[in-house]
Amino acid sequence: MFGSDSIYMPSKSRKKKLRIGWFTFTCSEDSSIILLELFNEHYFEWKEKIEFAHCKMIKSKNDQTGLDVAFIEGAISTDTEKKKLLEIRKNAKKLVAVGACACTGMPSSQRNNFDDKAKEEITPFLKQHGLWGKVLTVKDVVPIDDSVPGCPMDGKMFVSLLDRYFVDFGIVN
Ligand code: SF4
Repeated sequence: MFGSDSIYMPSKSRKKKLRIGWFTFTCSEDSSIILLELFNEHYFEWKEKIEFAHCKMIKSKNDQTGLDVAFIEGAISTDTEKKKLLEIRKNAKKLVAVGACACTGMPSSQRNNFDDKAKEEITPFLKQHGLWGKVLTVKDVVPIDDSVPGCPMDGKMFVSLLDRYFVDFGIVN
């Protein structure tokens, strides 16, 4: 599917593409799977309209600078994730939370609702792995422009949002 003529390579026939990044934080990465499934239907269209500047599931060399849109999957649960998200926000004109974990924190933020006993029991593990006791949503950390709800994300809503951005960024009329 992703040969030399892959979806993220610049096209010679079209000057302007929507430069996007896909980023995954604390979650089970199922919205990533939905995105891959959507390629089955949209590959040839998106190949002409999208530059996947950062998308680690389909390419090894990634660049998160100068993004039109950053899509954020997953909740935020460590200092490292927070720092990375702040950096992405600086580099993206639009930032979109995708999937329930990014939009609401749940289910990745289950431990926020643990009782005191359970919280005490997991404390050593949190410390060991540098994890926060309280997991945050994406919008708890940075301003967001849009969101795609669902667990995993709603594929139709994701495609509709992309279509809107194609217009907003002058990729299509
Ligand atoms: S929103 Fe749901 S499907 Fe997506 S990563 Fe979180 S738990 Fe998994």
